[in-house]
Amino acid sequence: MIVLDNEQLAQMHAHGERDYPYECCGLMLGRFADARKQVVETYAISNAREEEAKRNRFLIRPEELMRGEKYARDQGLDVVGFYHSHPDDVAVPSQYDLEHAWPTYSYIVMSVEKGRAVDLRSWEMAADRSRFIEEIINRAV
Ligand SMILES: [Zn+2]
Repeated sequence: MIVLDNEQLAQMHAHGERDYPYECCGLMLGRFADARKQVVETYAISNAREEEAKRNRFLIRPEELMRGEKYARDQGLDVVGFYHSHPDDVAVPSQYDLEHAWPTYSYIVMSVEKGRAVDLRSWEMAADRSRFIEEIINRAV
């Protein structure tokens, strides 16, 4: 389970709409607590791929990830997951996403249809790494 508040959801929606028709991506910073992740803040990262590839896949440059991890540490937080958008596509991770994912983290995928964020779902990798399993999003107030 991942716990998010309305402000964090609104920030991810806004990022996905701003970067449309390209994919946006970012980190979710917070804490691991028992079987759930408590998100404290979102950390936007620009899409690092070249223009022609931008539409289909997301990639976070190692230096961007390191900067995000350092920022999280400075705040006393952990990176608990990643988010990215699928422009004009469903909020379900692709095979590419699966091949570039790690266990434990949450992966939020947002569907942005014609510039509007219309769906947002969270996923975790199965223990055998063969697929993603949908994760419950608990909306804190
Ligand atoms: Zn994807």
